[in-house]
Amino acid sequence: MKSSAEIVIIGAGPGGLACAKHLAENNRRVLVIERKQVIGPKVCAGGITWSGLLRHVPEDLIEQAFPQQFIYSNLQKIKVSEPEPIVATINRETLGQWMARSAADAGATVETGMTVLEITRDSVIAKNSDGNVQTIGYTHLVGADGSTSMVRRFLGIHTKRMGIGINYQVSGKCKNMEWHLNTKMFGSGYGWIFPHRETISIGAYGDQHNLPAAELKKRLLTWAARRGYDLSHEQPRAALVNYDFQGFSFGSIWLVGDAAGLASGLTGEGIYPAIITGEAVAKKIIDPAYPAVEITAMAKKQLQHQRVIRLAAIHPLLCSLMMEWLVFLLRIKLLDFHALEMAD
Ligand SMILES: Cc1cc2nc3c(=O)[nH]c(=O)nc-3n(C[C@H](O)[C@H](O)[C@H](O)COP(=O)(O)OP(=O)(O)OC[C@H]3O[C@@H](n4cnc5c(N)ncnc54)[C@H](O)[C@@H]3O)c2cc1C
Repeated sequence: MKSSAEIVIIGAGPGGLACAKHLAENNRRVLVIERKQVIGPKVCAGGITWSGLLRHVPEDLIEQAFPQQFIYSNLQKIKVSEPEPIVATINRETLGQWMARSAADAGATVETGMTVLEITRDSVIAKNSDGNVQTIGYTHLVGADGSTSMVRRFLGIHTKRMGIGINYQVSGKCKNMEWHLNTKMFGSGYGWIFPHRETISIGAYGDQHNLPAAELKKRLLTWAARRGYDLSHEQPRAALVNYDFQGFSFGSIWLVGDAAGLASGLTGEGIYPAIITGEAVAKKIIDPAYPAVEITAMAKKQLQHQRVIRLAAIHPLLCSLMMEWLVFLLRIKLLDFHALEMAD
């Protein structure tokens, strides 16, 4: 079967859907291809920030909101408080469904259960859940297909900088949102406890090169047990976080979100960067003269986060000193928690 769309977007994550909505609102013919049957579910702690996405989603999507953050280092424990929520939690399926509805209402076509198998310079070959293979021509192709992006590979862009996150979504309730900058366990990464409505996300994030997945999992289980959570019978889910940004515009082919490598290497925050780059790429497709300054700002912020990781990788003692210093600066309010976010 052969068909065509002006703009084909691979991936219905936050990046692809934000891009599709903006294009459709501007009367562009856009097709989003998503391999999952259900849009939304993704290995994620579901944290969104006040400066980022929090104020832009309907209130009923918010699971819990936290005006206080509890931050632990090897030597310190501090509480950061603000009048407004600093971070809130969100369910990725609920967010994905809401974004997919918004994109479809604007006029985008979103096909689920369809996997892109092959890419050429003017078409993609995709297979649906019935096994039917289609060739779909495009004028613009947007790679919004996540950290292991096929579009990125098609462009020949290698990915050297990758974070890895492991999440356990366990039943139960707890009160505080906690970040554990435990350098002995997680290097420049961290362990988290993020309460949702009826569940708790407990996980750890680290740099893939310094901390292989199996070791990260082992340490996460040990650390969680010390915090009173026995995760040994729970189901872990792990995924990569690409923070190797090398551009987003490649002629008629574009990269957004994790495919572009625009998540934070330090915190793993990637939902907001995906939405911002998705919208910016849509604006650039509509008007090639659009300056896309938001992507430049995001890349600059990401580079600052990368510098911390590079310094921390020099020696474990330096890593530990840096984390203590960071927590100390937060404690005496010389550093704002928002400085660690990807949004300005
Ligand atoms: C453990 C963990 C915890 C995290 N916690 C947070 C957090 O608390 N806050 C935060 O902001 N970020 C967090 N992140 C990062 C965040 O999940 C990602 O940065 C974000 O989802 C990126 O969005 P995206 O749209 O670029 O890609 P994705 O959300 O990965 O979407 C890509 C989509 O493309 C589809 N796809 C891929 N290949 C194909 C193909 N060949 N054909 C069709 N479809 C395809 C996939 O099925 C997927 O739906 C976390 C990551 C991990 C691993």
